[in-house]
Amino acid sequence: MQQFGVIGNPISHSLSPIIHNFLFSHLGIKAFYQKIYVPHLEKLNGVLDSLDGANITLPYKEEVFGICDEVMGIAKEIGAVNTIVNRDQKKYGFNTDALGFWKCVENLGIRNALILGAGGSAKAIAVMLQKMGVEVDVYAKNKLRHLFFIQRQIKVNAKIDLKDYDLLINATSAGLITDDLPVPEKILKELFCRSRYLFDVIYPSDSRMNSIDSFLDFFVHRKATPLIAYAQSYSIQTMDGLEMLLFQALLAFEIFFSKQYSFEELRALFYNSKKLHRSKK
Ligand code: NDP
Repeated sequence: MQQFGVIGNPISHSLSPIIHNFLFSHLGIKAFYQKIYVPHLEKLNGVLDSLDGANITLPYKEEVFGICDEVMGIAKEIGAVNTIVNRDQKKYGFNTDALGFWKCVENLGIRNALILGAGGSAKAIAVMLQKMGVEVDVYAKNKLRHLFFIQRQIKVNAKIDLKDYDLLINATSAGLITDDLPVPEKILKELFCRSRYLFDVIYPSDSRMNSIDSFLDFFVHRKATPLIAYAQSYSIQTMDGLEMLLFQALLAFEIFFSKQYSFEELRALFYNSKKLHRSKK
């Protein structure tokens, strides 16, 4: 049986096993996907060697970039790996966060975007948008985080440039644990009035989610993130990060099985699932 896993610290909250194990059972693949808690960097290599493929989450995406035998595609530009496959005793690293995000917004006709935050997810999103010809502004209070963007000719500022944006992205951790907003309300109000879409990388979660049925119910009935709840009295259209999470997992699945299953096919399988249809009624 093939073995896969998601590696991080903390890891208990991860929804990836539910998604991957659902796909294995639906497609009749003899494989198992588990959460793997890795407290220290030293243990990482050994764990990766024991798996056929893995997803990597906080805080190891940049470390794994450094230990891959070969880094593929956009992961090279981002400098972070969230998906790995072991083939012929070599580790191949990929980044599916970037394309997972793009799949959520690709049909919106985005010409310019403002990214709030400058950590791992902001880097992946900024590189992806730049690649797609979108004009990107990054806002990061912390100037220590500016170098990555400067080196890639992406505009970065410690002050928000108040102008009209097609897409506003919250790529900070604000709203994850508490109801914090990423920037002061006065600025948000102005941005909400001048932007078409708001994408919040944060997604709501529920610790009781432990099966595909509970995940699908949650997918349909989930609550708004603090930022999306705050935006609801404005005409800006909103999306949270749950679909990005799902899409990065489907893209990783595609990579684990060498594109035997396409992203579109996997997405259709998920959205056509009977349970999701029942919940939508
Ligand atoms: P990082 O820790 O790499 O970066 C976090 C960024 O948020 C930094 O710029 C940090 O600024 C800023 N920040 C943190 N707290 C606040 C706050 N209260 N107010 C304003 N800014 C703040 O994290 P990631 O980029 O990896 O992840 C960010 C969020 O995105 C996480 O909550 C994560 O769960 C989510 N995520 C979602 C994904 C999805 O598939 N939907 C994929 C990846 C991540 P500073 O420099 O000042 O610390």
